Amino acid sequence: MNTSITASTLYNYVQCPHRVFLDFFGDPSKKDPVGAFIQLLWERGVSFERETMEKLEVPFADLHLLDPGEKERRTFQLLRQGEGIIYGGRFRTGTLVGEPDLLVHRGNGYVAGDIKSGAALKGMDNETNGRLKKHYAVQLALYTDILHQLGFLSPDHHPFIWDIHGRETDYDLELFVAKRDRRSFRHYYENCLKSVRSIQKREQRTLPALCSMCKFCHWRSQCRFQLNRDNDLTLIPELGRAKRDAMFPYLKTVRDLAESDLTDWIHGRKTIFPRIGAQTLRRFRTRAGLLTTPNAQPRIGESLVFPDSDIEIFYDVETDPMRDCCYLHGFLERFKSAPDRETYHTFFADEPSEEQERTAFQRAMDYLASRRPCVMYYYSHYEKTTLWKLQKRFPDIASEADIEHLFSPGAAVDLYTDVVRKKTEWPTNDYSIKTLATYLGFQWRDREPSGAASIEWYHRWVETGDTLIRQRILNYNEDDCIAMRVLLDGLRDLPREAIPDD
Ligand code: SF4
Repeated sequence: MNTSITASTLYNYVQCPHRVFLDFFGDPSKKDPVGAFIQLLWERGVSFERETMEKLEVPFADLHLLDPGEKERRTFQLLRQGEGIIYGGRFRTGTLVGEPDLLVHRGNGYVAGDIKSGAALKGMDNETNGRLKKHYAVQLALYTDILHQLGFLSPDHHPFIWDIHGRETDYDLELFVAKRDRRSFRHYYENCLKSVRSIQKREQRTLPALCSMCKFCHWRSQCRFQLNRDNDLTLIPELGRAKRDAMFPYLKTVRDLAESDLTDWIHGRKTIFPRIGAQTLRRFRTRAGLLTTPNAQPRIGESLVFPDSDIEIFYDVETDPMRDCCYLHGFLERFKSAPDRETYHTFFADEPSEEQERTAFQRAMDYLASRRPCVMYYYSHYEKTTLWKLQKRFPDIASEADIEHLFSPGAAVDLYTDVVRKKTEWPTNDYSIKTLATYLGFQWRDREPSGAASIEWYHRWVETGDTLIRQRILNYNEDDCIAMRVLLDGLRDLPREAIPDD
């Protein structure tokens, strides 16, 4: 078994501890093939890194093509010589192995940096300025730890990320991980490292947990089999790893929860499980009941009232986070007075250029203005966040007041946040639009419909100009819009039945 702990090991641990276990001990023949989207991410990462270094106007030592042993030897030599910038180096101490993209001489030592083909910070929208990403922080902390142990660390400077926007962002490892998590990133890294070591020694047991990362993971089939076999609690929507682990000593399966009367666990508005309130636990039990009852039907807890308008618009955007580009605004339009005549309108950026993105945004805003009064349906906050980002970049096209007006009550409905999550329960493992519309009988035309696949198609469309690929993107987006309409009609038809609350 390879006992090295690398930046990738820590990155994977942050996403899923079980992935680390399987990467150490799993049967490689049971791995799923790497998907086209993950392949694209790798390729984009490598080519962005090369482009960045080619444009660098200062000299640097380039080790990236050397074999690992030679890299280590040269890196150590260059660190001792005080080389200004080392690209593609490699160093180790004990089982810790670091391959930072950059080692830069600053002050009286070195700091490490990575080149990322994404944004350096997460959560940058109209309301926040962005926060450090945990999975970037643990990687930089590993390099910093190794530099410190080797005696080359510059204590007065922070490791950094060079990101897709050409910005350098300092990663201050003494900052708190989150408002509710008062550990520093350095402590967080130390905890992750400790856990990885105990997984490596088989002292710490890990279990699969159904999460959004599973669909990109090469262990997805094996884990899905195990989750189903074990009737794992994470098969319940929104009951993730942390909640499952808190409940696990008392309740191990979906059936256990469905059959529990909960009296042993609930005290007033609280439960004995950290960060799970009484109302949430009752809702999880309702979901467990739906999952374990043959032919169970979805439930609506209260009457659903939707804004009254003759024009209903179902809106879905496609974006490429690697290019930070919104390449498609798709609208399905239906008149209540003529429900059989629905039309699909698209505003597409044929190239990922600022000019094309701007034109698509302008035309989408013009389209919406021409349809008022109408009610716009969308699924989750992503469309809203995207329009706010575009407004910030192109304030001459839409003002803040314009975007606020678009999403004002009565003008727009977030079907996921305001309706599905708050007021309904379904006999499914998640509440994604794909899962719910499929449950209601809708089928996407594409064999592999997903937002990630759409990004990969867009990449290929830009490279090849193949109109079949362009049409595939449009069909997929149209189907996403139709899926929302199917869901809205399904919600209107559902019978009302009580859902537990406080
Ligand atoms: S498939 Fe999911 S649970 Fe399994 S290792 Fe991957 S991320 Fe973890």
